[in-house]
This record gives sequence, C-alpha cells and structure tokens, in this order.
Amino acid sequence: MQVNFVDLKAQYQTIKPEIDQAIEGVISNTAFVLGKAVEEFEKKFATYCEAKHCLGVNSGTSALIMVLQALGVKEGDEVITTPNTFIATAEAISQVGAKPVFVDIQEKSFNMDPTKLEKAISNKTKAIIPVHLYGQTVDMNPILEIAEKKKIPVIEDACQAHGALYKGKKAGSLGLAGCFSFYPGKNLGAYGEGGAVTTNSDEIAQKIKMLRDHGSAKKFYHEYIGNNCRLEGIQGAVLSVKLNHLEEWNDKRRKNADLYRKYLQGTSVGLPEEMPYAKHVYHVFCIRVKDREKLIDFLKQKGVFTNIHYPIPIHLQNAYSFLDYKKGSFPVTEWVVDEILSLPMFAELTEEQIKYTADCIKEFYQ
Ligand SMILES: *Cc1c(COP(=O)(O)O)cnc(C)c1O
Repeated sequence: MQVNFVDLKAQYQTIKPEIDQAIEGVISNTAFVLGKAVEEFEKKFATYCEAKHCLGVNSGTSALIMVLQALGVKEGDEVITTPNTFIATAEAISQVGAKPVFVDIQEKSFNMDPTKLEKAISNKTKAIIPVHLYGQTVDMNPILEIAEKKKIPVIEDACQAHGALYKGKKAGSLGLAGCFSFYPGKNLGAYGEGGAVTTNSDEIAQKIKMLRDHGSAKKFYHEYIGNNCRLEGIQGAVLSVKLNHLEEWNDKRRKNADLYRKYLQGTSVGLPEEMPYAKHVYHVFCIRVKDREKLIDFLKQKGVFTNIHYPIPIHLQNAYSFLDYKKGSFPVTEWVVDEILSLPMFAELTEEQIKYTADCIKEFYQ
C-alpha cells in the first residue's frame, strides 16, 4: 500500500467538472487578474470567516507583509510571534524592516504560550502575530486582553486554519486582521499561489486593497508605494468552488484524526490534543515519537510518507543567526521539535490507509 502525505489528485477527481467549468469561465471572459471571480470569492470567504472584509492577494506571505505595512510597522519596531512556525511569519516581519521577537509555545497546543507574552512586550512592540499552527486556534482571549491593555494590534496567522474555531468564532475574525494562505496543500488551496486578508476594519481593508495594487485605488493614481500582490482570476474561481466543500473536507480531516487516535491508542506515540477552546481542522496531524529518523525511514520503506513541521525553529535558522538567539532560548519549542512527526492527512485518506499507517508504526516499535 502507498500512503502519500497529501493527494491533490484525489481531491481534484472529486470536483473535476466544477473546477474545469470555473477555470473555463475565467478564460472565456479573460478576467485574469482580480475581476469578478475574485470579488465573488472575497464576498464568500468574508462571510465564511465571519469578517466584514476579505481581500484576495497573491500569497499568505504577502498578506502578512501588507497587514504590517498597513499598520505602519517599520524599521526599529518589534513584532512578536512564536519560533515554532513556518518561516514566512518571521520573514514578513523582517520584510517591513522590523525585528521578530519570539514567545515560546505551550507543549500541549504547540501554539504561543499566553503566559509568556507580557515579558516579551517592549515599548517598540508594534504588533503580535499568534499563529494557529497545524489548524488549531491559539488561546486568543488572554492574548487579546494583554494586547488591548497595551494598545497593540493582533494579527492572526491563519494560514493553516481555514475554518478553525476559537470558542465558536472563526479564525481570521478574532484579531484586527487575519492572514490566510491558499498554497495548494493548505486546507483551502488554490491551483497556484494565493492568499487573503480578512478584517472588520474598513481602514485596513482599504489600505490592503491599495497596497496589493501599487498603492492605487484609481488606475494610474498612486497614493502609497505599494506592490503587485493581486490574486488571479483563475485562483478566485477555483477557491470559490473549493470553499463550498471546505466544511465537509474539514469534517473528514477531523474524522481521520479520530481514526488515527483509535488505531494508535495504547502505543508510545504522543497524540495531538484538541484544546477545550478550539475546533481543530487538522491541516497537520502532528504526533510525537522517539527514534524519529529511523521511524521515518521505516515508514518510507513501507510506502508511508511523512513530514516534519518544522525541524528547525526560526530562532535557530541560519537566516536568523543575526538575532543572536542560542539553543536553550525557547526550551519548549526546542524540546518538541526533536520529536514531532506529521502523518499523512487529507480529506480523501481512507480508513484502510490510516489503519495501515498505524500498523506500520506499531510494527516499528515492537
Ligand atoms: C503557508 C504558511 C504561510 C505562508 O503562506 P504562502 O501562501 O506560502 O506565502 C505563512 N504562515 C504559515 C503558518 C503557513 O503555514
């Protein structure tokens, strides 16, 4: 048996006629950049995220950069996030000239530890970016309370959390703005690059709308120095079709997570916990294991493909050596990253494949 880490072909087979028709529609009316298909998607995604506005952009990274720009974050400023994230979160902070400041994670949720936030805040802190890692929302209320007290905006990195809930509220509606990625492998993925900003702020929405299009609201009249970060029409059309299926796909991911739990119960493997405040959408099903490298090789030989999200925390990446963090700076992150392993996870995964994966893991530890 073969169990791929993700299987975008399997998903396409389930929605082929709708997708093909949507793409053909964009080609026939030639609205290739922004345009009607993007506007329709923006309306649908804003409604889905329970946010007033959604602006389609060309990636999750751009979404983060532009929200920081819209807030006026610049050189000399500090922005707080966690070291256990994809590098894009920190890169966005660096791209506007600011300095990333890290807060360690909670072991159980893998997300920012709110009890460690206040100590990281200085008079240079201009934003806080909690990351809803693996598809589980951060414990937002304590973070929002501290941020409100200090008058610091909170930007959600919701790039892995399409449809995830915090105390019944959607990811992307909790902070001043939410940033999403539609990279193909994400829970809601485009057929190329894509991203979005969700916000309830008219001011942020208007700024993003201009920043993504050369700082312009009216063609050839430029109010700011912006960039070209527009979402393509074909991606808007694909995303509209796929958004209709997102709830069903997220439910299937949750069922698959339950099946993994069932078949891995009673083993030495550490299983991910769903926090009481969260509805997890399992972008990643992350377990904790001993002898990880040997297990990865064993599983590969058995046809089971895994990943590590992420093997090196941001503060220990070469790109960030100039920040002068050392091993030991963020002990919880450093401790868990040596044990984490992401198992295959996608909606179309079968119970047979999950059982087979679990059986292979059991065989390895016997
Ligand atoms: C994917 C991802 C991003 C970046 O999104 P892109 O669309 O690839 O630019 C940022 N943050 C996190 C947590 C991500 O998973």
